[in-house]
Amino acid sequence: MIRTLFSALLALIAFIVFTGCTTKAPVTGRNQLILMDPQQEMAIGHQGAKQILAKSKRSANPRYNAMLNRVGTRIAQASGQTNYRWEFHMIDDDKTPNAFVLPGGKVFVYTGILKYISSDDELAAVVAHEVGHALARHGAERMTKGQLVNMGGQILQVGLGARGVSAANTSAILQAFGMASQLGVILPYSRVQEYEADRIGLVLAAKAGYNPSAALTFWQKFIQADKSGQRQPEYFSTHPDPANRIAKIKELLPEVMPIYEQAKRNR
Ligand SMILES: [Zn+2]
Repeated sequence: MIRTLFSALLALIAFIVFTGCTTKAPVTGRNQLILMDPQQEMAIGHQGAKQILAKSKRSANPRYNAMLNRVGTRIAQASGQTNYRWEFHMIDDDKTPNAFVLPGGKVFVYTGILKYISSDDELAAVVAHEVGHALARHGAERMTKGQLVNMGGQILQVGLGARGVSAANTSAILQAFGMASQLGVILPYSRVQEYEADRIGLVLAAKAGYNPSAALTFWQKFIQADKSGQRQPEYFSTHPDPANRIAKIKELLPEVMPIYEQAKRNR
């Protein structure tokens, strides 16, 4: 059984290697495995955005909307990605301190995050991070992992069935496999993707002429809110520990500040 499974997995790996599905992430150059084609990814993002907009209330605050459009347009320009249909939506929900992006460049910012934002530079830190996820196709990368886990599960099922393992045993093994894959593989953006989006975001903000050090002040406000006993902001649950994040951002600032200085001179 193990041998059948092993050769099936080898075939899968060979398929992946020879079909040339590996790409490189922008800025970091990290090798990525993405089986989904950009068209498919774009369609998923488009459909998802429609669903979210149908059930959310868009902000009617002209100042908030103007701020997001202003910052979003400049960050999207700096990304150089013209195949995406960039959209920036401000959702009226003061209780949700969050922001996210869908594949193909649909960015959503909740008004709840604005209490930690007091300048265009700080909003740019949040928007550029999300644009970084979209540019590096993190959603498609994540969905690819899901596809692989599914294929792995199917191979396992076929292997077990062929060996005449009882149905009850098969389901116990599959359950254990599913749990392991959930812990190991299928999580929301991985830590690696989060730090990568931070790094791409710093470069994009700098290129767009926004002060990248605003990412520091933004995260420091988040930490303060947490210390003062307020409900832990939602952003925490899906993002790495802000203290580690701040340390990494500090390390990268000397690299991106010259890009910012140059962009300011060109404006
Ligand atoms: Zn993120």
